[in-house]
Amino acid sequence: MDVTVVGSGPNGLTAAVICARAGLKVQVVEAQPTFGGGARTAADPEFSGVEHDICSAVHPLALASPFFAKFDLPARGVRLAVPEIAYGNPLQGRPAVIAYHDLERTCAELTDGASWRRLLHPLVEDWREVVDLLLGDKRSVPGSLPSALRLGVRMLAQGTPAWGSLAGRDARALFSGVAAHVLSPMPSLTSSAAGLMLATLAHSVGWPIPVGGSQAITDALIADLRAHGGELTAGVEITSPPGPPGSVVVYDTAPTALLGIYGDALPGRYAKALRRYHFGPGVAKVDFVLSEDIPWSDARLGQAPTLHLGGSREQMAHAEAEIAAGRHAQWPMVLAALPHLADAKRIDAAGRRPFWTYAHVPSGSTLDATEAVTGVVEKFAPGFRDIVVAARAVPAARMADHNANYVGGDIGVGGNNAWRALAGPTPRLDPWHTPIPKAYLCSAATPPGGGVHGMAGYYAARSLLRREFGIAALPFLGPDSGPKLTA
Ligand SMILES: Cc1cc2nc3c(=O)[nH]c(=O)nc-3n(C[C@H](O)[C@H](O)[C@H](O)COP(=O)(O)OP(=O)(O)OC[C@H]3O[C@@H](n4cnc5c(N)ncnc54)[C@H](O)[C@@H]3O)c2cc1C
Repeated sequence: MDVTVVGSGPNGLTAAVICARAGLKVQVVEAQPTFGGGARTAADPEFSGVEHDICSAVHPLALASPFFAKFDLPARGVRLAVPEIAYGNPLQGRPAVIAYHDLERTCAELTDGASWRRLLHPLVEDWREVVDLLLGDKRSVPGSLPSALRLGVRMLAQGTPAWGSLAGRDARALFSGVAAHVLSPMPSLTSSAAGLMLATLAHSVGWPIPVGGSQAITDALIADLRAHGGELTAGVEITSPPGPPGSVVVYDTAPTALLGIYGDALPGRYAKALRRYHFGPGVAKVDFVLSEDIPWSDARLGQAPTLHLGGSREQMAHAEAEIAAGRHAQWPMVLAALPHLADAKRIDAAGRRPFWTYAHVPSGSTLDATEAVTGVVEKFAPGFRDIVVAARAVPAARMADHNANYVGGDIGVGGNNAWRALAGPTPRLDPWHTPIPKAYLCSAATPPGGGVHGMAGYYAARSLLRREFGIAALPFLGPDSGPKLTA
């Protein structure tokens, strides 16, 4: 065996696919009984026709990331259904605010559409550059300096107290909702970078829902890996260095997992840095089974597969400040998705459908968030409670039971801040290469951070191919039946 990948999340599988395509013998070892990490879909324990996305559900990055653009999921039979509405944000006492795939339609419904257009139109025109910058390795010279400047100015405007430059309470709420996809105080450069990338993608590639759930993305990666000779083993937690002595290992794990795996063999300074590693606030997941569609007060939301249920910008900023301080917010930030609106097969024969939600909570919270999320949805959809058939709650403190990376419920694996996104989990020129001989990190704790984009796996594979095997050119990554262009 040339390379062992520990963990089968999207980054681990990406690293495995690239190494296998480069001609190496690759094995993936996964602790859980099923593969995919944060990109898994599982049947409800009682209503088997209803399938829940255990973690990720909405996938703009599966179309836009440079790795997935080359891997080409649609050409491999993964249908990424792009809805007309990317995301909606209900507001108290006034109509909801909606981000359509169509930028002009979005602007037309805002009180000051010109402000939204000024913020996003130049980025939408240039969306590939925006993605290259924010999902880049942060170690290469930007391809286009004007694009970097346009993005940098907007990051500062929305990530500092200058964020008042976006006019209109509705537009401010719309942007804060999308920025809340990372758990971070608001305003901050972290939340503004995430918000700008995701809002830009809403009006360019759209916010697709994979038909069949997130598992479809994982299954496409696994099929490619197996086709290139890769092997996978599930249900084996790695607690000591795997593979034959001297073989290369790529860890799709939290950086702190290396403390247990290598123990005293870790270089002292690295061990010290890992012991100081800090995780952020958590999420409490609640997967509902509903008997029918949600009775939103604003009927337009009936077509919105993704919802940000945090109220106004001030309310969201307050909620994020509360959890950062270790307190539960009275009105927590709630993110939600209704995949059946893009994929009708998610409705079972009896009309039951999944409702994917999570609430932002303090790190390690043991709260069952069912009641908190129900209360938030009821604010905007009175009667919601009556259509709930079942609710499956996973408190933040138990998120690590199904994925050891989510320590205390932190789905960003400690990586949700601008410094870590640049420097890596411990500051290094090559943050995917650890000071342990032949050991690499590729999880969302390494740049460019969270999301199903595969880019941390891509950079880790690039680094190890060059350092360990002297392979400088990455292999072709597209479907084997397509034209053979190099990556
Ligand atoms: C609730 C939730 C909602 C999300 N929503 C979205 C979304 O809608 N869109 C989006 O793009 N992203 C979303 N994300 C983020 C996305 O899922 C993650 O950023 C992404 O999965 C990270 O990929 P990864 O490969 O780094 O790690 P993970 O996907 O976390 O996979 C790590 C794998 O390593 C395994 N592992 C860990 N330790 C060991 C060990 N010692 N031995 C063996 N195996 C081990 C784990 O079991 C796991 O399978 C969400 C995440 C969560 C939790």
